[in-house]
Amino acid sequence: MQNILFFLLLISATRMVAQDPTANYPIYKGNDLGLTYTSKASTFKIWSPTATAARINLYKTDIGSVSDYTAKMNKTVNGVWEITIEHNIKNSYYTYQVLVNNSWSAELIDPYAKACGTNGARAQVIDLKETNPNGWGQDHSPDFSKGNKQTDAIIYELHVRDASIHINSGIVNKGKFLGLTELGTQNGSGLSTGLSHIKELGVTHIHLLPFYDYNSVDETKSNQYNWGYDPVNYNIPEGSYSTNASDGKLRIRELKELVKTMHSNGLRIIMDVVYNHTALTGNSNFNALVPDYYYRKKADGSFSDASACGNETASDKAMFRKFMLESVLFWVNEYHIDGFRFDLMGIHDIETMNLISDTLRKIKPSIVLYGEGWTAGLSPLPDEQRALKKNAGTLNGIAVFSDDMRDGIKGSVFNIEDRGFATGKLVNAESVKFGIVAAGKHPQIDYTKVNYSQAPYTTSPASLINYADCHDNNILWDKIALSYKDASEMDRIKMHQLAYAIVLTSQGTPFLTAGSEFLRTKFGVENSFDKGDSINAINWILKSKNLATYQYIQSLIKIRKVHPAFRLHTAKQISKHLVFQNNLSDGIIAYTINGAAVGDRWNKIWVAFNGSERAQTVELPAGNWKVASINNQSSLKGKQLMIDGSSAVILYQ
Ligand code: CA
Repeated sequence: MQNILFFLLLISATRMVAQDPTANYPIYKGNDLGLTYTSKASTFKIWSPTATAARINLYKTDIGSVSDYTAKMNKTVNGVWEITIEHNIKNSYYTYQVLVNNSWSAELIDPYAKACGTNGARAQVIDLKETNPNGWGQDHSPDFSKGNKQTDAIIYELHVRDASIHINSGIVNKGKFLGLTELGTQNGSGLSTGLSHIKELGVTHIHLLPFYDYNSVDETKSNQYNWGYDPVNYNIPEGSYSTNASDGKLRIRELKELVKTMHSNGLRIIMDVVYNHTALTGNSNFNALVPDYYYRKKADGSFSDASACGNETASDKAMFRKFMLESVLFWVNEYHIDGFRFDLMGIHDIETMNLISDTLRKIKPSIVLYGEGWTAGLSPLPDEQRALKKNAGTLNGIAVFSDDMRDGIKGSVFNIEDRGFATGKLVNAESVKFGIVAAGKHPQIDYTKVNYSQAPYTTSPASLINYADCHDNNILWDKIALSYKDASEMDRIKMHQLAYAIVLTSQGTPFLTAGSEFLRTKFGVENSFDKGDSINAINWILKSKNLATYQYIQSLIKIRKVHPAFRLHTAKQISKHLVFQNNLSDGIIAYTINGAAVGDRWNKIWVAFNGSERAQTVELPAGNWKVASINNQSSLKGKQLMIDGSSAVILYQ
């Protein structure tokens, strides 16, 4: 019965694709959609094969006022509508309207727009060259890796507003791009905050939560908050992070100022991008221009919703694939962006993702790419065509997040009370070991005992992001408290440190969420995307309060950066030179890395984690071991290592 049903569904799905009339629309191959500006003329091009007329409206202001010029656009080739205005209209704002099915659309911005005014309601004619801050011509991305290896990156996830909005940040431009250009800022007790703090911590890349123009914050108000996973204008910076959202040039210049300052301080910028859905659906700019083209549909004709945000885009269609590719290229070329994190990457098709990766790597070989290898709902595009975690081996140079490791360490994010290896749930040890080897093929992993994946899914450590927490769900410090209410604060601090020790010593690329290095709390609020500054702001005084944790995590970052053994480049190196110690008691994971064989200055490295809460003694392998990292009550006496409960130790020869 099920098979027959499946067969019928398959037929109807096939028929649906075959009958999708939008799939046969003519494709425009030029790279000049949107505005082409010179001081002599401005040419506007939009793609709308379904329109029977199109017009442009010019305005002197970004909000209010009536249009002082409206003109019909001319239909040219392959669904493109075009108009050239033969004088200098710099700083004018503009909108388009298309006539589809005998009805004029509302005014919209084309998806290719590069500048806009308040709330992205009108695009703006600007000269992009005028947005470059002083010294932009000399801006270059700092080195982080000799051979452009993604595993040499240490990623720090940060929200622009969270970084500076708290009164304790000591930062002047609170909540703005410019807040992350201020150096030498301090919390109330003299410790560095913001950019200086991040520099001092030692990470290599800052991953900023969405900073393209998103929908949920009214840019005319200063007290609104959102993470920003609701895109409107993909190629324009968010106005609420600018000191004047009305000025299309200013938000661009201020973001470039941020990039330049980060670069000159040794840091790289990764952009969080959300091409998988748009904030609006039926009346989004995309859908108003070309109804039904850019989104996947269900068999009944309604919008499919693998994003759980109302729609899912169709990267498998030529003009959305082209849009994504041109968009990431624009951010790299114009803003010098160093990497991308793809939200719900499992919605995108593999062909598009590989095209993006191959194209970007040609112009910036050191680009860092990763994404969420899952969706938030069902998609009509077959699994084998999508950039899901299980297909990570078919993605070229694009890593996936390891939920196996994340939940192995701390327990399921979907069950608040569930614990993980670092909080005493020792049965999770195999999931942690799986993360340690970057989810690859290793002779000592029993895949049947791994929480979510019963087989390796990477063929290279560069394909995996290891982490304990991120902006989603509960931040680690809260997760530990919520899942282990009886534990003392001192015990919870040990567990938190253990969790981060696992992340920072494991193969693959480590990822931290801002503030977790000093036990940031969101007061038990999960998914705080719209919960305001009171929940989300980073309270920098916590750095002083939890200085020992901060210094411990900082020291682990330093060890990782100095020692290539923790950043192996091939799965073969890991399966050959990272050897787990057998016959250990419950709760202990220990392994040796053959440092000499992988070019490390340490000949041998021994790493151990005690997920149990009681101190345990471990017999060390042969040789004379020295301490690289030890905390809590752990101690080394000859061949015996006493490892305290909920603790990590790194030794070397
Ligand atoms: Ca906005």
